[in-house]
Amino acid sequence: MTTRAVVALGSNLGDRAAWLVMAHAAISLLPSTSIVAASSIEETAPVGGSAQGPYLNQMLDLACALAPLALLEALQAIERRLGRVRRARWGARTIDLDLVRYGTTAMQSRVLTLPHPGLATRAFWRRELAELDAMSRRVE
Ligand code: ADP
Ligand code: MG
Repeated sequence: MTTRAVVALGSNLGDRAAWLVMAHAAISLLPSTSIVAASSIEETAPVGGSAQGPYLNQMLDLACALAPLALLEALQAIERRLGRVRRARWGARTIDLDLVRYGTTAMQSRVLTLPHPGLATRAFWRRELAELDAMSRRVE
């Protein structure tokens, strides 16, 4: 049994497009997980952000048999793995992986809130999600 999970990728340091590609590749290698669709890549201004540069964002649609917390941990491990390279070269974090949705699961805890509360404030996430919804309707 797989569940549709939606992951948001964001990068604002270094070769941002390359970080998105590397994160995409790492996610595609996760156990019991396949990438079903990818949104277009959008550039956005940093939230609240003075010193930070603009972000490149992309959303991935996954078919995933990992439980929500296992998926979150796997995403965080990818962040750390890519982050080590990042910290050594640029002294800051370059990839953020957020679990936007996991099927229809609704939960709220210190480690995981679903759907991600950022959906309410980030119009670009809603646009990307609509794009993924349109693609999945086409293949149904
Ligand atoms: P942000 O994404 O807000 O910039 P971080 O990536 O540092 O910040 O995440 C902070 C914490 O948010 C993580 O420790 C994680 O446990 C928690 N968190 C809660 N819900 C989610 C979610 N749906 N997706 C990703 N992280 C989440
Ligand atoms: Mg995050």
